[in-house]
Amino acid sequence: MPKNRKKIMEEFRCPLCLSRECETFVKYDPKHKDYYCSTCEYTGTENDVKKMYAVITSRFKLLNKRIKTF
Ligand SMILES: [Zn+2]
Repeated sequence: MPKNRKKIMEEFRCPLCLSRECETFVKYDPKHKDYYCSTCEYTGTENDVKKMYAVITSRFKLLNKRIKTF
């Protein structure tokens, strides 16, 4: 396991860029106490980012389940 693996896991990916299937990390702004993306215009607190992750992962809720009847 790489040394900076834990550090990467603690950082957040930008939810807007992630929904466009592009991976960019958000940076923390201590002045406004929120996260911002350097690629797009996204800014938000830690809770905002986690809420948007929940919306994105809801698309893949049935990924591991085989649908037999419609
Ligand atoms: Zn972004």
